[in-house]
Amino acid sequence: MNDRMKQRSVLPLVALALTVRVAYAQTEPVPCPGNPDALGTARTLAVDAATLPRVGRKHFPQTLPLAPKEVVLTFDDGPEPGTTPRVLDALRRECVRASFFLLGRSAVAHPELARRERDEGHTVAHHTFAHPLLSRMSTAAALAEIDRGFAAVDGALYGRSDHVPQTPFFRFPGFASSPVLLDLLERRGVVVFGTDLWASDWNRMAPEQELKLVLDRIEATRGGIVLFHDTKRQTAAMLPAFLRALRSRGYRVVHVVPAGESAAALAR
Ligand SMILES: [Zn+2]
Repeated sequence: MNDRMKQRSVLPLVALALTVRVAYAQTEPVPCPGNPDALGTARTLAVDAATLPRVGRKHFPQTLPLAPKEVVLTFDDGPEPGTTPRVLDALRRECVRASFFLLGRSAVAHPELARRERDEGHTVAHHTFAHPLLSRMSTAAALAEIDRGFAAVDGALYGRSDHVPQTPFFRFPGFASSPVLLDLLERRGVVVFGTDLWASDWNRMAPEQELKLVLDRIEATRGGIVLFHDTKRQTAAMLPAFLRALRSRGYRVVHVVPAGESAAALAR
């Protein structure tokens, strides 16, 4: 058998092995220690700027390729002592993996919380250094703010930073994007996350009220990317009941990871 024939005979086997592995991840959730009734994480979805440069129907024409009743849970503006640990505790109890969009200044102030998010299997992504509305700044100033956020988060997590962050996922503060910034991020391979729905948790309300509001919206859209803030006490308070409600209503959690990390995430 020559080399080319060997390649031909091996490649389908590799493809089959990957397919089996993905199918396993989707249909046989990993048991959740101490909680046999856990919501769990149904599957991992690799996202790449080359195919999905921006996602979330609130602001963009397309979103993640999710099935009906699948949700991606995202948390912005942290990490914050007090509330972020409560959010992480609730997610851990249910073996749910989420995505956190961090402020660089908060990662610098609380690097141990950023590392806990990473160490517990969550995706740790970016939300600028100090949360300005980038659409109101010069392009150069906006890019500097974005890069300072990338460097601060990666510095807290890995002790170093590159031109493209380890996790190339970014969300604009206040969704205040501009065409030129979107184009520059796409060319750098950074996926911009909008959202499909939100909990409106920037408005003060009782946790029970927030729970009802977000569940009603999820039922209306049949799932999608959900935006919360792990800096909000009312969100931390409602999260355990929210995750139980997702389970009882038959929703499944999808964990988004950068494309290059999907194999590693499946292996975890
Ligand atoms: Zn924000």
